[in-house]
Amino acid sequence: MQILPIGDQVFRQFFDSSPTVALVVDLADGKIVAANAAAAAFYGWTSEQLLSMTMAQINTMPPEGMANLLSHLRQADGGLFYFRHRLASGEIVDVESSNTATLVNGQRLCLVLVHDLTDQKRAEESLWLARRAMDASATGLTIADGRHPDLPLIYANPAFLQMTGYTREEVHGRNCRFLQNDDRNQPGLETLRSALKAGKACEVTLRNYRKDGRAFWNEITIAPVFDAAGMITHYIGTQKDISDRKAAEAHVERLAYFDSLTELPNRRLFLDRLNNNLGWSIRNNTHGVVAVLDLDNFKNLNDAEGPEMGDLLLREIATRLQSCLREGDTAARLGGDEFAVLLANLSADAATAAQFGRAIVERISKAIGAPLTLGCIKQQMTASIGAVVFPTGKASPVELLQKADTAVYRAKAAGRNALAYFEPAMQEHVQHRVKIERELRGALESGELRMFLQPQVLANGTTIGAEALIRWQHPSKGLVPPLDFIPVAEETGLIVTIGEWIFRQACQTVKRLETWNNGLRIAINVSPRQFRMADFPARMAAIIQEVGIKPHQVAMEVTEAVFFDNLSHAVATMNELKSLGVRLSLDDFGTGYSSLSYLQKLPIAELKIDRSFIKDAPTNPNDAALVEAILAVARQRQLDVVAEGVETVKHVEFLKSRGCRLFQGYYFGRPVPVEEFVAAIEKPQADSPAG
Ligand code: C2E
Ligand code: CA
Ligand code: CA
Repeated sequence: MQILPIGDQVFRQFFDSSPTVALVVDLADGKIVAANAAAAAFYGWTSEQLLSMTMAQINTMPPEGMANLLSHLRQADGGLFYFRHRLASGEIVDVESSNTATLVNGQRLCLVLVHDLTDQKRAEESLWLARRAMDASATGLTIADGRHPDLPLIYANPAFLQMTGYTREEVHGRNCRFLQNDDRNQPGLETLRSALKAGKACEVTLRNYRKDGRAFWNEITIAPVFDAAGMITHYIGTQKDISDRKAAEAHVERLAYFDSLTELPNRRLFLDRLNNNLGWSIRNNTHGVVAVLDLDNFKNLNDAEGPEMGDLLLREIATRLQSCLREGDTAARLGGDEFAVLLANLSADAATAAQFGRAIVERISKAIGAPLTLGCIKQQMTASIGAVVFPTGKASPVELLQKADTAVYRAKAAGRNALAYFEPAMQEHVQHRVKIERELRGALESGELRMFLQPQVLANGTTIGAEALIRWQHPSKGLVPPLDFIPVAEETGLIVTIGEWIFRQACQTVKRLETWNNGLRIAINVSPRQFRMADFPARMAAIIQEVGIKPHQVAMEVTEAVFFDNLSHAVATMNELKSLGVRLSLDDFGTGYSSLSYLQKLPIAELKIDRSFIKDAPTNPNDAALVEAILAVARQRQLDVVAEGVETVKHVEFLKSRGCRLFQGYYFGRPVPVEEFVAAIEKPQADSPAG
């Protein structure tokens, strides 16, 4: 390596061209004896000006301090100092001054290298300020280490600690999830997780828990911090306890949508719910009922006993009202002594909905009418109720309420404590039903019900059994067919008593004919409501035993309707009945939804092809094909098939040729009173149609 000869000239050049601010100072008096271009640029003086100055003109320290410094440097080798220097512009800047003292030709000189600290100072200051701001912030602030997979907290400000009740040590190094305890199934957490995964900022509201276990609503924002390479280094979180705001919102909502006296929904919320339900009902093709209730005697009571009593009473009525409703229904206080109920999704059929609505309103009337003790006052209330079925035409929620209101006046005009429907047809329908129900109860007691029997025969005309069909011997209307009163009996539950009555009649007839031709089988119709009763099989078993017959001599006909709400429960009930020895028959086959597909699941012995398919089977290829298909499937599953509604010889021929073995219909015999039936089979007539 060659050593270059470096002379003074070279050093001088380095000195002048160095980007570092450099001065040479005479330590005897502080005079500047050399200054480079960087110094001139930094201080704003020309080099010539600098050479006429002393350090005391640049350094802001007081003169004694300057004197001490110079004398110190005269003895020492140098040192690193922090000073404040004055520029030509008058601005004062913080500098780091590195001093090296040497003796040159008997003169103590000092090389002063100056670094501007302004930027660094500013950065430090703003860092300090930021830290102060974070500490002083009323919002909870946290910083998590974004490079660690568990995102542990490395900072939490006092507001956060105060909000959560934890100490700094308790939170340090932990992932924020400890704030949720085990309440981890919150929708906000899902949002948070996916934001973290995507490295995005997000804002969520979470139900967090304080150290003492109390929950609070926490509005949280999380924002990632990236380094120059675009990697996440930290996450900054802000947390606000918004429980108060939530409570205030809930309070405002209550004021806006609920009646403060009874805490029931108010008119506005009622209309809102009605609006939603109206749309839903249209889409789902179902009907509901809106009823408006007006207390009949409230005003008198209020005037006589004072408004406090009135309030108490309204609250009591509200409680009773609600106790009568199903889930999904709404009771509301419209104002004063006017209440409303929204009975949703009652039936696909408007008239049936009106009927079901009436049943619920009746329950409400009864509840309102129950004796009431307020302080020392005993009171009995009644209400006039107006109702309307919806959807009806294009009526809006407000219009529906108006219609129900109009009906209230009709109810009041009818002598109060009554229900009136707005639609005349509904009103008629309901009144008709009410009348039938009342009369039917009487009919049960005074023995106006009759059992008719219709023969079930083999192809050669031999009677092997009969179907029991009920009739009502009405004192003024004569013989009423079942379709005119069975639906009412279903709705009101009277069917249970009626069903048991006819089953007992059937069993007794079986008993009477026990010795005839090896016995006769009688089928009864079981209504869905009866079938669904928990103890139905047990009740039937009791009757079979009481009368003393062989169970296989009775058959029960059920329709597919019994499977609608709970197939597995229906199958269990059927299995129970089958284990009693009772024969099960699927009635009206072909008219239901499902048909052939679930046949194998059912413990049935027999299918009855609905009359509507038999009617045109000999002439209509579609019906013919269906009947043939049913017969084929039944043969495969070893089920008996009874063809219903066999009216003509053509029917018989068609069915016989397709392998049908059992027949029921006017061709072989109409339903006749039990006595007539017994008499007929005991001495068979020579001119029997198939004979
Ligand atoms: P279903 O079970 O389908 O009964 C057969 C119906 O068809 C009976 O009507 C019967 O009189 C009629 N029918 C029989 N053969 C012919 C025929 O050749 N041509 C025509 N056009 N009709 C025929 P009914 O007696 O009016 O009974 C109607 C429905 O009432 C029955 O239909 C059944 O669902 C119900 N029902 C009757 N009695 C009872 C009962 O005791 N309990 C229950 N729950 N329902 C019953
Ligand atoms: Ca039947
Ligand atoms: Ca039938």
